[in-house]
Amino acid sequence: MTKIEIPGPGSKFDTVEEERLHRKQRLAAAFRIFGRFGFDEGVAGHITARDPEHLDHFWVNPFGRSFKQMRVSDLLCVSHRGEIVEGDGPLNRAAFAIHSQVHAARPDVIAAAHAHSIYGKSWSALGRPLDPITQDVCAFYDDHAVFDDFTGVVLDLEEGRRIGHVLGSRKAVILRNHGLLTVGRSVDEAAWWFVTMERSCQSQLLAEAAGTPVLIDPAVAALTAEQVGSHVAGWFSFQPLYDVIVAEQPDLFD
Ligand SMILES: [Zn+2]
Repeated sequence: MTKIEIPGPGSKFDTVEEERLHRKQRLAAAFRIFGRFGFDEGVAGHITARDPEHLDHFWVNPFGRSFKQMRVSDLLCVSHRGEIVEGDGPLNRAAFAIHSQVHAARPDVIAAAHAHSIYGKSWSALGRPLDPITQDVCAFYDDHAVFDDFTGVVLDLEEGRRIGHVLGSRKAVILRNHGLLTVGRSVDEAAWWFVTMERSCQSQLLAEAAGTPVLIDPAVAALTAEQVGSHVAGWFSFQPLYDVIVAEQPDLFD
């Protein structure tokens, strides 16, 4: 018995408007959760959700708005050309350069998350992938890459394209000297991968500071990856975080 049975999202929407509102609500909640975890660093960081109707458009946070105060009504809808087609506020050009190219390269991806969280960026400075040293980090076993070419703030579409290329079909990429980027088939999934990847970076930094971590055997790491690293597992792991933030900060729905 190696399979873990967990419920999936199972959401069905009667209209595209309902689906759009659902995505925007999950997105606003994801920002509040990132704020709660302290993933914000000034104005850096962005999470995007593909529009369910206009598939080359995505929803994103306005530049300069705190993650901790994000509301559904704050979100911007941006076209593949970088035009703001809905919402008020400035667009972070780095958010556009990276996320537009990731969404274009990965039609299966609904959401992408990137922030300058402290352990992710610290780990990124080492230029190494994460090792299979805990059950949780096995979600990324053979499923993340390192983009080892830091050239300053990503403002160029071509660099976003190269990040998308290095990401490939994986769920995450470590941007060397910069931070983490995760993707998912739902906002829930992308946000959860970010949370657990950040904590996996913290875990490996702690373990290596204290000694030499014991690696999980490759076959066991691969099995554990199937158990904790599936799309459904990523979505499911986000649900308790969502429930708590909605109960505590219902104004995120404004
Ligand atoms: Zn960044």
